[in-house]
Amino acid sequence: MSELIDGKELSKKIRKKLKKEVLELKEKGVNPKLAVIMVGNDPGSTVYVRNKSKACEKVGIEFEEFLFGEDTTEEKLLEVINKLNKDNTINGILLQSPVPNHIDINKAFRTISPDKDVDGFNPINVGNLTIGEDAFISCTPYGIVKMFEEYNIELEGKNAVILGRSNIVGKPMIQCMLNKNSTVTVCHSKTRNIKEITRNADVLISAIGRPKFVTEDMVKEGAVVIDVGINRLDYGSIVGDVDFENVKEKTSYITPVPGGVGPMTIAMLLNNVVKATKIQMK
Ligand code: NAP
Repeated sequence: MSELIDGKELSKKIRKKLKKEVLELKEKGVNPKLAVIMVGNDPGSTVYVRNKSKACEKVGIEFEEFLFGEDTTEEKLLEVINKLNKDNTINGILLQSPVPNHIDINKAFRTISPDKDVDGFNPINVGNLTIGEDAFISCTPYGIVKMFEEYNIELEGKNAVILGRSNIVGKPMIQCMLNKNSTVTVCHSKTRNIKEITRNADVLISAIGRPKFVTEDMVKEGAVVIDVGINRLDYGSIVGDVDFENVKEKTSYITPVPGGVGPMTIAMLLNNVVKATKIQMK
């Protein structure tokens, strides 16, 4: 019998707890605040930023947008980041990707102060995660870890297969699974015989952005399947990387799209802003 991992419900629970913590901070005269920088007019980013703003508002986190045109120079962007790093009223800084090609996004991420790096993209945080020290962890993998914890899914000694090796999902996910003592295999576009690898997975996490890529014959009986993919089809509906209806029959646990990993990503962003605020109070 397959159980649905309800990211929407779990994210509500986390946001409720955070709302209380934000209130306690406000009683001490501290107002957690997130700054979001967006360069250019990517329509997807506009929607993401709006959703983040609404989510912050609901838990009482202040939110300020810094919007810049497509032709903004890298120098100007770094200047803004440096200013926000020094601004004591700002606790978290998020640079929305993508940015225009003339900007080196890794340089921008490196410029964000590690203490305010709520997306966990600064190499200091990436490194701390790698060596098992306290770190801001990229929100999507962190949200997935919280799902495993909430549903008491045992990871130690399990074969975890991750599809996708992006800096924001796949790579930090590898570290998160290693830190949970899983045996990790990562697949990407150059991997051969993916099906043979995924069939051995006790836990299969797909983050590639290909609609219904993971089919039933790729999944082991009783596997835990986490679908990170968000794929918009021509007629507007959103599907994940997993052929949910057919795959779910074989799984012990599975996340839906929408309502799975997506809401958890936002919840962990809010969590990281509160964490950043507390660190900066010390
Ligand atoms: P990305 O940067 O485009 O990376 C995609 C990864 O998938 C790459 O490592 C690529 O391999 C691999 N890949 C692509 N096609 C493949 C194939 N046919 N077989 C095996 N591997 C393949 O994407 P991303 O930012 O990680 O996002 C992945 C998906 O997750 C997207 O649908 C995105 O919208 C979604 N997402 C969702 C959330 C959420 O909160 N739910 C958050 C972030 C992303 P190479 O490295 O070899 O190119």
